[in-house]
Amino acid sequence: MSSIARNVIDLIGNTPLIKLRGPSEASGATILGKCEFMNPGGSVKDRAALFILEDAEARGLIQPGGTIVEGTAGNTGIGLAVVANAKGYRTVIVMPDTQSKEKQDTLRALGAQLVLVPAAKYSSPCHYVHTSRRIAEETPGAVWANQFDNTANRLAHIKTTAPEIWAQTGGDVDGFTCAVGTGGTLAGVGMGLKSEKPGLCVALTDPMGASLYDWYAHGELRADGSSVSEGIGQSRITGNLDGFVPDTQFQVPDEEGLPWVHRLLEEEGLCLGLSSGINVAGAVRLGRHLGPGSTVVTILCDSGMRYLSTLFDPAWCAARGLASPPWLDPGRRLDIRAGCV
Ligand code: PMP
Repeated sequence: MSSIARNVIDLIGNTPLIKLRGPSEASGATILGKCEFMNPGGSVKDRAALFILEDAEARGLIQPGGTIVEGTAGNTGIGLAVVANAKGYRTVIVMPDTQSKEKQDTLRALGAQLVLVPAAKYSSPCHYVHTSRRIAEETPGAVWANQFDNTANRLAHIKTTAPEIWAQTGGDVDGFTCAVGTGGTLAGVGMGLKSEKPGLCVALTDPMGASLYDWYAHGELRADGSSVSEGIGQSRITGNLDGFVPDTQFQVPDEEGLPWVHRLLEEEGLCLGLSSGINVAGAVRLGRHLGPGSTVVTILCDSGMRYLSTLFDPAWCAARGLASPPWLDPGRRLDIRAGCV
């Protein structure tokens, strides 16, 4: 059988699983990261984008040359633009203007039509999700991806991510944890792995400013604090979370996730975004919870290179009271501009 990919869609999924040395040592467990930043669109959301578009095709909701419209923190839009280009559709992406410049520029570069809106509460009609639904309704030949409530999103993880993790670990996996944006990854991987091993522990890792930790811990949708992470932090039970309940839950502040972003880069060469750092902090907590010798899998959602103008800009971090990578301190900078050395 030929090993040549037929198109970019064939490159989605089948991402490597990597042992994370520092987190494993810190927890006493084996912590494994699923390298979702290696998908062609650079994030875990390529899988959902593909399943959502193919579901729309199967239902006859989109025709050749049609348009897919979505509201997104950016990565789903990038995934949709990649898949839509490969299939001959147009992409319209509505995004809050608070998301990283790199994601905005990437969407433009991919040819998506970008609609930037001010950040607004979900209850406001100006929220990016509601704006994207209205644009889809008003655009002839357009379909709304609706990643939050469209369960084709979590089906991508039930059908691909979970079986990959099961095969890659040879079934030697005791726990899974990640944060929630839409919940497609947590619920989908959780459901998929539990269908193989019902006793496996699935944990929610919630950033500050999200409401799900309190919901699952105390039955109350309540948010405390805030996070500069992008793509995660949910305040409602989405369609993708419906029918799923984690076995346990953690609340991880940026101050705990960010040092993992720095350490994984400096010590292990992995350049990741903050949602990955928060996931890894959650995996360390789950590893401690499950005890020595256990194996925990988490998601490395996207690359730190998507956040050069934020997490990797010392001035940006300082303005928010956050630590920046120590090697970027002006006093420690190693770069030289030279005509001839
Ligand atoms: N991390 C990043 C960087 C993301 O963009 C997203 C998607 N919004 C997530 C994590 C969360 O994934 P999900 O939507 O499957 O909950």
